Amino acid sequence: MQLKVVKFGGSSLSDTEHFMRVASIIKADPTRRYVVASAPGKRTDDDQKVTDMLYTCYNMIKNREDITDYYQKIVERYTGIISGLNLNFDITGELEYIKSAMMARSGRDFAASRGEYLNSLILAKYLGFDFIDAENVIFFKDNGSFDEEKTNEAMKAELKKHKNAVIPGFYGSMPNGTIKTFTRGGSDITGSIVARASNADLYENWTDVSGFLMADPRIVKDPLPISTVTYRELRELSYMGAGVLHEDSIFPVQKEGITINIRNTNHPEDEGTLIVPNMYTDENEHLITGVAGKKGFSVINIEKNRMGGEFGFAARVFKCLDNYAIHTEHLASGIDTMSHIVSTKELNSKMDELVTELHRVTDADNITVDTGLALVAVVGRGMKESKGTAARIFSAISGAGVNVRMIDQGSSELNIVVAIYESDYEKTIQAIYNEFIK
Ligand code: ADP
Ligand code: ASP
Ligand code: MG
Repeated sequence: MQLKVVKFGGSSLSDTEHFMRVASIIKADPTRRYVVASAPGKRTDDDQKVTDMLYTCYNMIKNREDITDYYQKIVERYTGIISGLNLNFDITGELEYIKSAMMARSGRDFAASRGEYLNSLILAKYLGFDFIDAENVIFFKDNGSFDEEKTNEAMKAELKKHKNAVIPGFYGSMPNGTIKTFTRGGSDITGSIVARASNADLYENWTDVSGFLMADPRIVKDPLPISTVTYRELRELSYMGAGVLHEDSIFPVQKEGITINIRNTNHPEDEGTLIVPNMYTDENEHLITGVAGKKGFSVINIEKNRMGGEFGFAARVFKCLDNYAIHTEHLASGIDTMSHIVSTKELNSKMDELVTELHRVTDADNITVDTGLALVAVVGRGMKESKGTAARIFSAISGAGVNVRMIDQGSSELNIVVAIYESDYEKTIQAIYNEFIK
């Protein structure tokens, strides 16, 4: 029999009505056997995600503030869902225990993880499914990295015992038993882990959009949906800010070549987007698959005559950046120049010291730092075969009156990344979308 793993995001489980929708989707297909749930998300634009509220509680406790009234709002989110569903389920003991554990300083990740823990308990009860606590089946190593093989073995063994189960997303445990979460949006990774361990035929990721769109719908009005995208394109797009799916969700399913299907809980009739290992026939109608981007970057420009001929020059620069824990997101170089694009957040407090140190190790003629940049990635497997894509991107951007600070084409020819000023970000995305898709 077929087996599907389904993950529901926060917006799909934000209130009673959404729980009912989710249950009817699951019950409509008996092959939807394992369910991964997020914490309740926003019900309206100005609402708060429960995960954010839990982080606030943690900070309040750290600042010795009283959380009683604030925590009560979280309590009401859950008790409201339970009573709306007419469930005979008393969750007050759990809520009280979590509050006292947070006050006893059980850690930031513990606090954040309780959003998915509680929501999954409720969903399991409502569906009549078993509950599997992620802390017993998802493991991290001492250095904080995800322990994929230990997790896969434990998850596989546990799933075999359950025909149907709900597993909370976002967290697992450290070797010493404390709770650790993935980075934000990490329930997508949990879904992928469960799909791999159960050797699922399909991993359905249910959210509030009808699939991956060719651009961020908050910037471009009604962007076209992407019907099929490869793992690698998806990784480029997610990493560059297309927030639909966590960029690391690809890794577990990649091991088994499992397809991911992004679906819309509010429009279950829509087919959504298929994310597949590879595509052999290319029926893609457009040259590019999508465009995405992120703000918050800076460029460190290093100039020195004949740097290209100097042995170990680049190595010294990278070593220096490493020492300050700064990652190079993109690199552009000429014979006498080298430009490292880095995250402004990573750079901020260390900037002056770093520049002094870079001068010392490179003896550069000039080093400047330009902040307030955004990166925009144009991604598409179709770009490889066609000539002149970079020129079209350039002319579209300059046609919009935007000045390009840097351009970087990855050697895979799967993407072209441009750096522009943050104030030109929206304009640039729109201009590229219009050039290739409209
Ligand atoms: P969930 O709560 O289901 O995990 P997320 O908020 O993590 O959902 O992801 C879905 C959101 O991603 C959408 O509501 C949309 O605003 C945003 N988004 C950003 N870029 C894109 C894109 N290219 N296509 C679709 N959605 C996008
Ligand atoms: N609830 C977590 C977050 O808000 C994880 C997730 O939604 O995937 O980041
Ligand atoms: Mg998400």
